[in-house]
Amino acid sequence: MILHDPSLNMAFRDYGIMLPIAPDRASRVAEFLGKDGALSSFPGPVLDIPGALGLLGEAGSRPVLDRADLERVHQRDFVAALYGDPGRGAPAEGRPDTMSGLEGALLYAYELIDSRGRPHRYEPDRALKPLPALFDTILAQVGGTYLACRLALGQIGAPPGAAGFCYYLGGGMHHARYDSGSGFCLVNDIMIAARKIQAEGRARLIWIVDVDAHKGDGTAELVRFARNRGGPGEPGGIGARGVYGPVLTLSVHMASGWPLDAESLAAARPGRAPLVQSDIDIGIEAGEEAAYVPRLKEGLCGMEKLSAGASGPMPDLAIVVDGADPYEHDGLPSSGLLRLSLDQCLARDRLIYTFLRERHIPSAWIMAGGYGDRAWEPPARFLEGLPEPRR
Ligand SMILES: [Zn+2]
Repeated sequence: MILHDPSLNMAFRDYGIMLPIAPDRASRVAEFLGKDGALSSFPGPVLDIPGALGLLGEAGSRPVLDRADLERVHQRDFVAALYGDPGRGAPAEGRPDTMSGLEGALLYAYELIDSRGRPHRYEPDRALKPLPALFDTILAQVGGTYLACRLALGQIGAPPGAAGFCYYLGGGMHHARYDSGSGFCLVNDIMIAARKIQAEGRARLIWIVDVDAHKGDGTAELVRFARNRGGPGEPGGIGARGVYGPVLTLSVHMASGWPLDAESLAAARPGRAPLVQSDIDIGIEAGEEAAYVPRLKEGLCGMEKLSAGASGPMPDLAIVVDGADPYEHDGLPSSGLLRLSLDQCLARDRLIYTFLRERHIPSAWIMAGGYGDRAWEPPARFLEGLPEPRR
């Protein structure tokens, strides 16, 4: 099952944001799979958001997400700023006054103002739409991540006896933190989806397997903060708000090079580490590409051991943050310290896919990072090569 909705295209340049993200990346994956009958094999049809809601029996019933879904994960003041509550959303400590409210949160998350307060990769004069309008598209993208989880859990489109699988050509905002966006991510769709799925009683233990080039630092922070606050199923007991199930995180990423602003981040937030630990972090040094897949396998086996030890046998759902930016032809300079070949990217994805499938763990895959004209290639080739027969 593939979830792809062209209406969710961020089209950053329409907002004056000049990021090196190809606006047609998701469409190119879908087009490639549509050619020459590539989709005559698994993973089956390409669904858009209305199609997904229809399959789930929820067509036209309500918005996919609401504000409470964000408040389950992020700080309430931060969410209030995003929704434009008057008097809320003062800039975080160490940030200029221009970084307040929704617009300020977007400027900060997409790194559009440099340390001297000047526009950076941001040309508002060329914008076709006001910056705050981007929020609605981001929320719709987050809703897609949640729907991908629902489709995977519902076994929809899966062959008999196989675990559910859904690949969402969107999402992956793994840098968004508890009280701010970060690294081109305003809110954390992964954790918003995971906590909503848990709150609805659809899954207990959820794994997050993050193989983007950059560490899933926001996700790690949100899991760790919730665990420290405490919640049923997390070490720490009953939380002050909400019901949390256990989430375990694995991140395989560049050993260095992220975050770019570690020093200023640490200075702006005394006492808070720039990077919070995932349950398992695996840093790959430049030149260690050949060790990537074996070390990923160790990480997955480590997740299995942690699960058996803490929360029962196996997860009910895995969310795979399948960034294409470790690819050697990725166009983002800061991800150049990790340069997997296409074959290595495919070996990575097939290992995760096979590992989860052998254990009958439903999985929702999200596309995450990937920059430049060739970022569509790893997910397209992975999906093309999936062996299961179509239903
Ligand atoms: Zn990345």
